[in-house]
Amino acid sequence: MIGLKDLKLLNYSYSVCLRLYHTREVRVRFAPSPTGFLHLGGLRTALYNFLFAKSHKGKFLLRIEDTDQTRIVEGAREQLQKDLNWAGIYIDEGPGLGGSFGPYIQSQRLKLYQEQVKKLLNNGSAYYCFCTNKRLDLLRLEALRARQIPKYDNRCRYLSTDEIKSKLDRNESHCIRFKLTPGMETFEDIIYGTITYDVVLNEGDPVILKSDGYPTYHFANVVDDHFMKISHVLRGVEWQISTTKHIMMYRAFNWEPPIYGHLPLLLNPDGSKLSKRQGDIQISSYRKSGILPQALVNFITHSGGGFEKDQERYLKPKSYTMDELAEQDHFEKVNLQFS
Ligand code: GLU
Repeated sequence: MIGLKDLKLLNYSYSVCLRLYHTREVRVRFAPSPTGFLHLGGLRTALYNFLFAKSHKGKFLLRIEDTDQTRIVEGAREQLQKDLNWAGIYIDEGPGLGGSFGPYIQSQRLKLYQEQVKKLLNNGSAYYCFCTNKRLDLLRLEALRARQIPKYDNRCRYLSTDEIKSKLDRNESHCIRFKLTPGMETFEDIIYGTITYDVVLNEGDPVILKSDGYPTYHFANVVDDHFMKISHVLRGVEWQISTTKHIMMYRAFNWEPPIYGHLPLLLNPDGSKLSKRQGDIQISSYRKSGILPQALVNFITHSGGGFEKDQERYLKPKSYTMDELAEQDHFEKVNLQFS
């Protein structure tokens, strides 16, 4: 079996490696934040991951990303699992379902994130930041006044070991930031093709562990995808801009990143983004109005998903079953015009 490291030795570029490296067991995940109820966009992400796992005889995981405790909506997680089941999307590993890589709720994995952050502090890829909210607000205002992109100026990167020690001894409130590397970073997106982006042009060093001991999305997401052995990350295109940052974190850990594919947004008829606050696109609202799960699933796959349309192959309109959908190799045909 040829692995990513062998391909690197053969001098393939990093992005080519990502494309060729299909030798791992397929393990994909749906990783919602329980900040609202499942809507069409979330269902589509879950569905594509589920079908991908099914067609590659892999595993489909549910991971709850609840690191922003202030935004949790009570009952959202339980309802989400019910909605997925109703739609015929069955989870192999997840909260309350078992699996060898749990717990599958991020707030129950804080110890792991704190341990992993230490590795990055020790190898110089992360640092303590003692900047106050007041300073950060001022930086933002100054940038806006100067018509520049507001971003952290990385000041605490340059604190001396003694300064850090004395601040820690004084119990000063702090977070941990990751050191971004300037320059173009490239990855191969299985839907959008080659993506190149220099994140430093638009962002300062991101916080990875907050002052309350909780990780931020970016850090917890990378750590969990690694420890849960995720082979492919299939998620909404709104996360594509963060992927080069995630790849830098994999490199800092010396871990192999997964293969990425970003899905164009599903939009409202007026071109606006779907929102968790739109009651009419919530899965429970379709269920209550008597829509059958298979009809909803077929509606989603026909909305730019690259799946075959019934009229093209059948005289009579056909509603595809999950098994039939899983047989279709649709990723190359996803309609990017929808984004
Ligand atoms: N928690 C993120 C969300 O709610 C997950 C993004 C990802 O799949 O990496 O969309």
